[in-house]
Amino acid sequence: MNATDRLAELFMRFPGIGPKQAKRFVYYLLREHSHFKEQLIKALEELKFTGKQCESCFRYFGDKNPSSTRTQCDICEDTSRDQSVLMIVEKELDMDAIEKTGSYTGVYFILGGLIPPLTEKPSELIRIRELVARIHTSIEASTLAEVIFALPVTDLGDTTTEYVERTVKQIVGIDTVKLSHLARGLSSGLELEYVDRSTFTSAFERRQ
Ligand SMILES: [Zn+2]
Repeated sequence: MNATDRLAELFMRFPGIGPKQAKRFVYYLLREHSHFKEQLIKALEELKFTGKQCESCFRYFGDKNPSSTRTQCDICEDTSRDQSVLMIVEKELDMDAIEKTGSYTGVYFILGGLIPPLTEKPSELIRIRELVARIHTSIEASTLAEVIFALPVTDLGDTTTEYVERTVKQIVGIDTVKLSHLARGLSSGLELEYVDRSTFTSAFERRQ
């Protein structure tokens, strides 16, 4: 296989990228000046050594210092954030969108997926064990006041919220923690990853 075909195959592994789009990327690179390609190669080289997963929220982050022993992303590490409020989201993009609104100061947990109805082993599709462990530890340390569900308002999102809430409610001491949901009226049918500031703020303030 030649280099362009190999590259197209690699691009096709990206989420949402089909064969045509992959080819378009390859042709773009063939046309582009070498400066762009050098920048791209350099960025990929850095990621190779510094791509890490946060042990608290499970977000992937780049760590510029290859010898650092950081285990948390900058959001979880930030002591000015309210560690007592934990928001459960489906994916990194949702977290990024909420961060962009600038109106949430708590921390997050990324479930890493959603559960289709009637799934036999839902625990294999999302990070439920990790979430239970995280909540359990926070309750023991008396550092958790509220858990906010911010999953999509779709069949999959609802099934997932139901399952996660049922599971979380079995954790010893959970009765000391407020469980809430972003207001549905506004977020109905809306993809969290495209949420704007006023929509999010309103759904957040009206959470129940
Ligand atoms: Zn984190």
